[in-house]
Amino acid sequence: MGNEKLPYCYTLLRGNGQTILLDCGLNNASHGKEFVERFNVQNWFPPREVLAEVGCTPEEIDHVILTHAHFDHMGGLELFPKATFYIQQQELVSWVSIMALHRRFRWLLTATDTGDMLQAVQLAREGRMRGLDGDVDNLFPGIDLRVARDTHTAASQYIVIRNDGKAQSDDVFVYTGDLLYRHDNMHGGNPNDPVYVPVGLAFGSQTNLVFATHEIMKTAGFDIRRILTPHEPAMTNIYPSRTTENGHYIVEVALGEGQKSVVN
Ligand SMILES: [Zn+2]
Repeated sequence: MGNEKLPYCYTLLRGNGQTILLDCGLNNASHGKEFVERFNVQNWFPPREVLAEVGCTPEEIDHVILTHAHFDHMGGLELFPKATFYIQQQELVSWVSIMALHRRFRWLLTATDTGDMLQAVQLAREGRMRGLDGDVDNLFPGIDLRVARDTHTAASQYIVIRNDGKAQSDDVFVYTGDLLYRHDNMHGGNPNDPVYVPVGLAFGSQTNLVFATHEIMKTAGFDIRRILTPHEPAMTNIYPSRTTENGHYIVEVALGEGQKSVVN
C-alpha cells in the first residue's frame, strides 16, 4: 500500500440570484486542527482567501448543502456567517448517537469532528441548520437532493444539478460528496471494462455504495464528465482550470449565462 494525494474541495454554484456552496471544507482551528494533522492536510487556506480567487466572499454564501458530516465536508460551519445549512436529519442524528457510545466505539468517529456536531446543533438552535427527510426536488430551482442511506455514512446525500432548469434535463451534473472519491470508483481504473469499486472508508454497507454509484452513473447518463467527485485530482484535466499562487486548483465546470470566467 502506498500513499495517495487527495485534493479537498468545495463547490460554488452561482445563478438565479443565489450563491450556494456544496460542502464547506474543513477548518484548521480548534478540533479541526487535529484532523488536519492526523490526515496530513497540507496547504490549507481559509475560505475567505480561496473564494477571493473567484471574486466571492464567505458573507455572500446564502446556502450550504452538506453531503455528509465528515470533517473535510462540514468543518467550515462557522466560516460562512450568513449561510443556512442543509443536511439529512438522519445524518445528524446518527452522529450524535455514535458520540454517546462507549469510548471503544470511537473508530466510528474516525472522520467526524465532534466539534462540528456541537456547532451543527447550535446552528439548528438559531434556525440556520435545516434537517431534510429524504429526497428533495428543487430545493432551489434546478437542484435536487438524493439520499443514499447506509453507504459512506448513515445518510449521505448527492446533489443533482439540472443546469438548464428543466424537469427532463439533458444538462445534468451530479456532485457526489464521498459516495465516490474519484473516477476510479466508477470504473476501477479500466473505463473499457468498468467495475464499480466502493470508496475505502464506508461506515455503512459497501453493497449499498455500489448501488448508489450505479444510480449516480444513470443520473449522469454514464458520462464521467458530468460527475463531480470532490477528491479527484484529474478534474483539472477535464475542465478549464488554473492553479493559484497559493497552489490551489480552481476548476470551472460550467459557466452561467453572463458570468465571467474565473480561470482565464
Ligand atoms: Zn466522508
